[in-house]
Amino acid sequence: MTHPGDPYIKEQMREFGETIFAEMSALAIKTGAINLGQGFPDTDGPAEVAEAAVKAIRDGLNQYPPGLGIPELRKAVAEHQERFYGTTFDPEREVLITAGATEAIAATLLSICEPGDEIITFEPYYDSYAASISLAGGVRKVITLRAPDYSFDPDELKNAVGPRTKAILLNSPHNPTGKVFSRDELQCIADLCNDRDLLAICDEVYEHLVFEGEHIPLIQFSGMRDRTVQISSAGKTFSFTGWKIGWVCAQPALLETVRTAKQFLTFVNGAPFQHAIVTALNLPLTYFEDFVEDMRQKRDCLMSGLTAAGFRVFPPAGTYFITADIRPLGAADGRDFCTALPERCGVVAVPNVVFYDNKEEGRHLVRFAFCKRIEVLEEAVNRLLGVTDWTIEG
Ligand code: PMP
Ligand code: GLN
Repeated sequence: MTHPGDPYIKEQMREFGETIFAEMSALAIKTGAINLGQGFPDTDGPAEVAEAAVKAIRDGLNQYPPGLGIPELRKAVAEHQERFYGTTFDPEREVLITAGATEAIAATLLSICEPGDEIITFEPYYDSYAASISLAGGVRKVITLRAPDYSFDPDELKNAVGPRTKAILLNSPHNPTGKVFSRDELQCIADLCNDRDLLAICDEVYEHLVFEGEHIPLIQFSGMRDRTVQISSAGKTFSFTGWKIGWVCAQPALLETVRTAKQFLTFVNGAPFQHAIVTALNLPLTYFEDFVEDMRQKRDCLMSGLTAAGFRVFPPAGTYFITADIRPLGAADGRDFCTALPERCGVVAVPNVVFYDNKEEGRHLVRFAFCKRIEVLEEAVNRLLGVTDWTIEG
């Protein structure tokens, strides 16, 4: 989207308009369609976590928390990293609580980018990456992940690194493809960071949504502990996306760097929710296992439904998104397809083209979110199955 005639918006922000998620959710509300566009669950997370938030509000924990986040939550984050990955962080110096992963990513980029510094990321990329790189005065360089396995060409990645390259921004498990980067791929990225003295910014918000393979944090690779900013959030793992509690784990100097920018973005956020997420992070292992199993059933339900409806589906190894190719239906343009979908059959999806710089790579791809109740997914599938002619798009 552009801003025609807007005299105020700065050059580097002109390519950004309303996010695709806001646009598609508004379309879902307007048309009453089932919203498989924006990734948010249609059920709340654990009742005890919600209760902990209510209790914190009632107990008067409503004023500014400390700049780094409340000590109990920093400790819970450090314990979580130890419990799931065996990595040790000092909660006093190596953990920062943020307003979701979004702020963590923005604060990192804002604090490390000199004007013109290059940030390498993989396309399709989560929309805020491009905007945050631009806000920070950086320049994005993209490496394309290609279907069916969404692998990348290691030489292309190596060749993308130049004298101005500052960091690689990695998202695994990956939105929107559902790819979980393999150990070999991560090793290749780690080697490059070490050889070329690059930082790694790792967005791991789907760390607990892995169906196939394993989530391996890049920070665990040799040489990466001191050059990685590890980012995650509670939104996806605990199904409270509106609370916006995220965190950063990094060595002290790097953490302090990120904190410097964070202080002047939101200063602090979500005091009572920070307390509730302590309860969430301390949930027993069964919570995390049940969560992924429940999501696996939802994935399988939507995947078989989309396949039956004629889409070419790329099975996601992680996240709660499925990317599908619309060309077998006789359609070609994902944006037109998604714009017409609510009227056509009462379902909303997201066109993946918005996550690409190389538009041709993503023109025919659309994304469906499956973090919805099974009966909602079944109804969406029935609606898609009811369409007999997909070729009417303009
Ligand atoms: N990164 C990715 C890949 C996402 O899909 C999202 C959406 N939740 C975010 C970051 C933002 O996370 P948060 O809501 O915690 O800011
Ligand atoms: N992460 C969510 C998604 O990919 C959207 C969050 C947002 O709307 N910014 O659908």
